[in-house]
Amino acid sequence: MCFFHTPLPKMIAILKQKPVLQRPSMIQKTLTRLALQFIVALFLTTAATAQTGSRVLIVDAHPDDETAYAATVYKLTHDFNGLVDLVVVTNGEAGFKYSTLAEKYYNLKLTDETVGRKYLPGIRHKELEAAGKIIGLHHIFFLDQRDNRYTLDPHEVLDSNWDVPKVKAKLKEILTEGHYDFVFTLVPTDSTHGHHKAATILALTAVNDLPASTPHPIVLAGTVRKKDAPQVAFHALSEFPITQIADSLPQYQFDRTQSFGFRHNLNYKVIVNWEIAEHKSQGTMQLGMNQGDLEEFYYYSINAPEGRAKAKALFDKLATKTYPELTYPGIK
Ligand SMILES: [Zn+2]
Repeated sequence: MCFFHTPLPKMIAILKQKPVLQRPSMIQKTLTRLALQFIVALFLTTAATAQTGSRVLIVDAHPDDETAYAATVYKLTHDFNGLVDLVVVTNGEAGFKYSTLAEKYYNLKLTDETVGRKYLPGIRHKELEAAGKIIGLHHIFFLDQRDNRYTLDPHEVLDSNWDVPKVKAKLKEILTEGHYDFVFTLVPTDSTHGHHKAATILALTAVNDLPASTPHPIVLAGTVRKKDAPQVAFHALSEFPITQIADSLPQYQFDRTQSFGFRHNLNYKVIVNWEIAEHKSQGTMQLGMNQGDLEEFYYYSINAPEGRAKAKALFDKLATKTYPELTYPGIK
């Protein structure tokens, strides 16, 4: 007799019965143990996979300076499991003069100083977040220091414009918690913006001031060059010996023109252009599209000599091809 042909009073009695808890059999116990082991193994594998690549902190003055290392960062984060964070010291609002084309895009009179200084910090936060998504930035730390004006003088920036103790404390905290292998800065040449110089000086000082018991990341100075232009020698920024470069010339490079894809017609300049395109309010930055072929890095003298092998290993790895050959039957 099936359940549904059982007389109603008996059916109710059956439904009211409390379920009998059965002792798990040996098979059930074994399956449960195997399932737990699988979950633990999966967790450990995922954790290990997430942490196999290099950890990099970029320290820049403005929310578009990271374009100098965009292709390096993209390949590291997308193909080699790297983690890259960015510290941007200012909001970049002093660049309002070049926002002409962004005015219609954002429907704001951004070239007017009052309007530009009011709205550009928020706009440039969003633009940088969009650019960071393209190159795979993990976290962006906005230190919200005032971008007052263009200057070549790092003293003007460090002595009166920025809250230097606050920036130093934040850099110390980020470096201590981040366990970075590398720190990227812009090379502080004499002709570069005083903000770039100041951000680099503060990054170098923060690494140098880490306690001896804390592993020190290797600090590199980045620049971009066309292949047909000579490398630029740089020794140190006068009055700031901490900026001394060990070899005067860049020692490591990432070639944005590495080709891949169907008929090898693509290269990493596409990614750099995408990244630059996100910075619509930056104006002249857009003219940097397709301009640089090589992202090059100098080795600062504050780094330990043994860091050279680690830096070389990183850039050797980034030079390897990661996209497979793409071919289609019957099509050359
Ligand atoms: Zn800048």
